[in-house]
Amino acid sequence: MTSVNLLIQAAPASSCDPALAQGPWDFDTVPGYGPGSSEHDVAPPTAPRQGALPASYREASDDELHARIVAARETLGSRVVVLGHFYQRDEIVQHADFLGDSFQLANAAQTVPDAEAIVFCGVHFMAETADVLAKPGQAVILPNLAAGCSMADMADIDSVEEAWAQLESVYGTEPDADGRVPVIPVTYMNSAADLKAFCGRHGGIVCTSSNAETVLEWAFERGQRVLFFPDQHLGRNTAKKLGVPLEQMPMWNPRKPLGGSSEQELQDARVILWHGFCSVHKRFTVDQIDQARATYPGVRVIVHPECPAPVVDAADEAGSTDYIRKAVAAATEPTTFAVGTEINMVNRLAAEHPQHTIFCLDPVVCPCSTMYRIHPGYLAWVLEELVAGRVVNQVTVPADVAADAKVALERMLAAKPKVRA
Ligand code: SF4
Repeated sequence: MTSVNLLIQAAPASSCDPALAQGPWDFDTVPGYGPGSSEHDVAPPTAPRQGALPASYREASDDELHARIVAARETLGSRVVVLGHFYQRDEIVQHADFLGDSFQLANAAQTVPDAEAIVFCGVHFMAETADVLAKPGQAVILPNLAAGCSMADMADIDSVEEAWAQLESVYGTEPDADGRVPVIPVTYMNSAADLKAFCGRHGGIVCTSSNAETVLEWAFERGQRVLFFPDQHLGRNTAKKLGVPLEQMPMWNPRKPLGGSSEQELQDARVILWHGFCSVHKRFTVDQIDQARATYPGVRVIVHPECPAPVVDAADEAGSTDYIRKAVAAATEPTTFAVGTEINMVNRLAAEHPQHTIFCLDPVVCPCSTMYRIHPGYLAWVLEELVAGRVVNQVTVPADVAADAKVALERMLAAKPKVRA
């Protein structure tokens, strides 16, 4: 199967934005997330910017960049480890020592404590998490600093601190008769390190899309309610699965007093959902599922829990990227799968499992705008800089923030699923 990158270069009109056929360096100087699924999201003014990429990388052919990356990797040997997220283009993934979701990759980095540099082909919050968990002296490098995450950017520390103060004014701080505090903060892995640190300081915890259910149960044992950020959809889908009624999940809009709810609605709440979303997964619709079922009777529809609740309800299954991969791998009979997650991962699954028919629910080729910023030109640049003894694009989390973030991450690692009768 042709990689998403080549598909876009050959037929830019088939993608959500023809500008995707340009090199990402064309967008590095412009505010915003660049072309792709997040292009209409508003990037915060503080979002990291990438400096100019030298012309020798911008103008090199794909074959030349590939050869330069291979040569640099050979020179560096075990001094460097390259991590590739499932949503990266094939031209990057082929150079990765480890392929996985954000948390799998952060863990993978810990298995190579002797590597001097961890090159994280993913987005900014992932590099931050790797830095929090890295050994002293290891440099975590993000090949393009403009590779943020529009969803992670939808919650910032000032807005969350302000929301917390307002919630405390409504709930107070005293625990109930069972010792449960009024509210526990839960942040999705897809968030800045200072939000993970906030959770660490306030008795809260981090979750991933694989363990969100276990983490919410952990939080309900310790708190009467949960403040869940930044992804409203993962929070809603997970709490719904645990039996929380939708009317007890008010949305927190940081631009409105009390997030847009009344005091009574907040008193009745079980989960307060931050007003964030992923623009990749927001593209999936119930209509697309209906269309897939009409075209392929018997199709198995699997979507990611960052999709809106009606889409998750209409699908046959919902689960993390790891769940989706395992579900496809476990199918023993030739099966038709319609998958609701990022296009690079869906196309790779299709190539790895030719016995199945696997396609993306969204018929338009529209990659994650920010994952797409990691072009082989950037990977070649950061690796050749390492060969020359220079560390560029290092992502560093301040020590005090890292210490608190680690507390929230360690709570997540220690949380165990409930044993059900
Ligand atoms: S797919 Fe969505 S959540 Fe993941 S990096 Fe892209 S914008 Fe962020």
